[in-house]
Amino acid sequence: MRRSLLTLCLTVLAANAWAEAVLINDVRIFNGVDAKLSRGNVLVVDGVIEAISNDAITAPEGATVIAGNNRILTPGFIDLHVHLSMHTPRGSGGEHATAVGARTVAAAKFFLDHGFTTIRDAGGTHPDLARAYNSGQLYGPRVFPSGAIVSQTAGHGDWRNRYDPHPTHTGTSPYLASDNSILADGVDATLVAVRENLKNGATQIKIMGGGGVMSDFDPIHSLQPSPAEIRAAVQAAGDWGTYVLAHAYTSEAVTRLVENGVKCIEHGLLIDEKTAKLVKANDVAISTQLVIFRSLIGIPDLPDLQKRKARQVRAGQENLIRLIKKYDITTGFSTDFIFGQYQGLPREFTERANFWSNAEVLHQATAESAEIIRMSGKLNRHGDFGEIRVGWVADLLLHNGEVLDDLSVLADPEANLALIMKGGEIIKAKL
Ligand SMILES: [Zn+2]
Repeated sequence: MRRSLLTLCLTVLAANAWAEAVLINDVRIFNGVDAKLSRGNVLVVDGVIEAISNDAITAPEGATVIAGNNRILTPGFIDLHVHLSMHTPRGSGGEHATAVGARTVAAAKFFLDHGFTTIRDAGGTHPDLARAYNSGQLYGPRVFPSGAIVSQTAGHGDWRNRYDPHPTHTGTSPYLASDNSILADGVDATLVAVRENLKNGATQIKIMGGGGVMSDFDPIHSLQPSPAEIRAAVQAAGDWGTYVLAHAYTSEAVTRLVENGVKCIEHGLLIDEKTAKLVKANDVAISTQLVIFRSLIGIPDLPDLQKRKARQVRAGQENLIRLIKKYDITTGFSTDFIFGQYQGLPREFTERANFWSNAEVLHQATAESAEIIRMSGKLNRHGDFGEIRVGWVADLLLHNGEVLDDLSVLADPEANLALIMKGGEIIKAKL
């Protein structure tokens, strides 16, 4: 009895004495879903959107009051396919982990400064680093880490040089030195790899599910891994209440992945109509990227093999977008920038505007991406975000520009982002 009274006192004290309130007045709201803007005022208390009203909201005592001055308020942006830690171009000989860490910090800053309050890391970033961002020790977006990518030997995650020894056959470690990927062949090894990622704190699992561009040994058409190995990964992830995302391009690869329980396909550029229908029927998402394939082809030192593969998959891009639109497949917003190319991030918005309306692109970068991230279930410890809704996490951006008319304003956040709020915390206010 006494203890519950004490708990109650502390709760009341917490609500009154430490409540942090921010009232943003007079904004036009893009809530993440509706194309039409609504006028209103938004109250944030302790990191959560407490009220949205067209009528005046009385500011709680001590609240920070922001004059929106009729500017547009949107949810914070989300990128579903980031590799925060992949910065070393192939053939450059690699870099010491401390240098990689420093580059990761610069990349994370770039994302948050451009209004990205959440990213899903699609492999390579250790969950320890995600913890440092999520606890506020490092400056950057909220990170949902996938840990090391699970790949079969000779698959898209096998980034050894041709004569490097196999990591498990040497009897030393099942990991590649970089921790970007784990080579796992067979059901048991796959279970170990997935569970090791979950132990480290992965919130979803990434597998290489077919041939890829940046690896040397696997042609794009190759199928990876076996149905039993895919099911093992899906089972182990599902036991933790989360899901598997898989890299794949072709119809054959995507069909095998979907039929064996994968819920999010990464890229998917070469699928046909029949596969698109299967994807839709199974409520699977396709997170695809527009800019990266062209920018990879433009890297002067990229080996011919990789350039050839990049051209091969890019050829399917317009057809995939047609299929995503035709079958209303959930897609979200993702970029997959590697090797320091993330400066191209704003171009992903304007490139998409060639195929979708500006409001649809902003929906992809907010509510739709959040819908995909929510498949992490109870491993999402951050609450609901991605929409401006009462009770949801306050990830908010206040834009100086008319972002619904012109997505290119997002390329200059220094001038055009007046406010960045992540989880109720004011990251930037230049009002
Ligand atoms: Zn990737």
